Amino acid sequence: MSEDFLICFFDPENDQIVKRPLEDMVKILLPSQIDISFQLESLKAQAVIIRTNLIRNSLKLGGKGCEKYENVDLCKSDHCHDFYSLEELKDIWKEDFEMNIEKIEKAVKETEGDILTIEGKPIMALYHNTCGGSTENSENIIKNKVVYLRKVLCDYCIESPNWEESKEYFLEEIEKKLNIKFSKDDLFKKGEISGYIDNIVRDEENRVRKIKIGGKEFTGSEIMELLDLSSNRFYICPVSIKIVSRGSGEGLGYCQYGGNEMARRGHTYKEILDYYYTGIKVERCLLPSIKKPLMGKVILIDPGHGGEDFGYVGNNGLKEKDIVLSLSKEIKPKLERLGAKVYLTRNKDENMLLNKRTKMADSIRPDFFISFHMDFFANSNNRGCKAYYFRGDEESKKLGVKILEEIERDINIKNKGVREGDFYLLKNLNTSSLIIELGYLSNLEEEKKFSDKRFIKQFSEAIGKGILQYFEY
Ligand SMILES: [Zn+2]
Ligand SMILES: [Zn+2]
Ligand SMILES: [Zn+2]
Repeated sequence: MSEDFLICFFDPENDQIVKRPLEDMVKILLPSQIDISFQLESLKAQAVIIRTNLIRNSLKLGGKGCEKYENVDLCKSDHCHDFYSLEELKDIWKEDFEMNIEKIEKAVKETEGDILTIEGKPIMALYHNTCGGSTENSENIIKNKVVYLRKVLCDYCIESPNWEESKEYFLEEIEKKLNIKFSKDDLFKKGEISGYIDNIVRDEENRVRKIKIGGKEFTGSEIMELLDLSSNRFYICPVSIKIVSRGSGEGLGYCQYGGNEMARRGHTYKEILDYYYTGIKVERCLLPSIKKPLMGKVILIDPGHGGEDFGYVGNNGLKEKDIVLSLSKEIKPKLERLGAKVYLTRNKDENMLLNKRTKMADSIRPDFFISFHMDFFANSNNRGCKAYYFRGDEESKKLGVKILEEIERDINIKNKGVREGDFYLLKNLNTSSLIIELGYLSNLEEEKKFSDKRFIKQFSEAIGKGILQYFEY
C-alpha cells in the first residue's frame, strides 16, 4: 500500500534526484517542521499535515509538484521544504537522537496513510507556529475563500514564546523601509501623542504654559525641572516606535503551539486537526503501489492495418499487419501486470476501418491511444523508429520521447525523434494519441530483426518501460 508509493525530490545542493517511499518522506520532513519536544499527538497531527501536502502535490497523482525544478514532487530548499539529514539531526539532538527518532517513528507509524480530505480530496493543509488568539479566514490572506480555512478562536497558544513579539524602529529606519518621509516641522510644532502627551499650550514665545502627560497636567516649568531641561521652551518629537505583534505567521489553518496545548490537555491528533480545519475528514489514502504503478490508467493499443490490408510488406515477405499485432499482444499483458487497463483495437488478423478505431477510443476514453505501424522508404538505408503526435498534444509528445528513449537504449534502434503529424487518426481522436512507426520494412536488416520473436518481445519490453517512465515522472 502506501509504503510503496514514492515521492521524488530534488536536492539542489548535491544536484541529485532522490526517491523515497511516502511514509519515509513524512519522517524526513517532520523534524524540520515542528518542535520535536512537542506532545506526541501534536507531532501526529503534523505528520498527517505533511502527508496530506505530499499527496496533494504529487505529480503522479495529478499535483503540481515543485514549480522551480521540473519533474519532481518537491525540492530540498526553501522553495519547497528544506530539511535536515540524519547526520545533521545527530549533531543537533546529540544524546537525545535515539529518543527523538523513536518519537518520530511512532508519530508517523500511528498515523500511517492518514490524510486530511474534503469531499474525498486532499486539502491544502496550511499551518503556522502561533496564531496569537485566533486563526484567519483564508480570503483575508490568499484572496480565495477556502471552506476549511476558517477563523477559529485559539488561546491554546498563549504560552507560546511567539505569542507576542515587539520590535523597535528608529524613525529613519521606518522612513527607509516604508519609503516615506515624516514631516519633521509638524512634529516639532505640535508634538502631541494622543493619550500620552496632549493639550500643549504655548505662549507667543513658544514657551510651554501647560502640558498634559499621561493624563496629568503640568506647567512647562514643572517639566523643565522634573526632566532636567535647560528651558521651558521645549518641543517633543518621537525618535523611535515600538511595534508589538501577536502570533507568528499568517494564521491560516493549524496553530502548532495551540495543537500542542490541546494535546497536553488530552486531545487526540484527530480532534486537534478537526478543530483547526473546518469540516475536514481524517481518512486513509489509497495509492498506486510499486507493484501496480499504472493502477487507474487506461491504454488503448491499436495494431495498424489487418485482414486484406497488409500495410507494408518487406522484401522477404514480412507484413506490417503481423508485426504490429504480435507486438501489441506482447505489450498488453505487460502493462496489465503493472496495473493498467489495456484494450486492443483488434486482436486478430482482421481489417478494421479507421473510424471504427476512433469510435472505440471515444467509448473507452483511454489515457492514451497508441497506434503501431511500420514505415517503408525508397532508400533502403533508412532505419529507425519515430513517433507522431497531434499538434499541441504535449503529453503525447512527452510519452513519445520516453518510449523512443527506451527503445534506443534497450534494443539499440535508431531514435528518429518525435514529431507533429497530421494523420487522420491523430486528427479524429478525442484523446491523447501517438502513432509509432517501429522501423523500416524497406531495410533488410530491420526486416530480419522484426521477424525474430525474441526481438518483438524485447521491443515490447522497451515500450512498456517508456510508458512506465512517463507515468512515473
Ligand atoms: Zn521546489
Ligand atoms: Zn493559537
Ligand atoms: Zn501502417
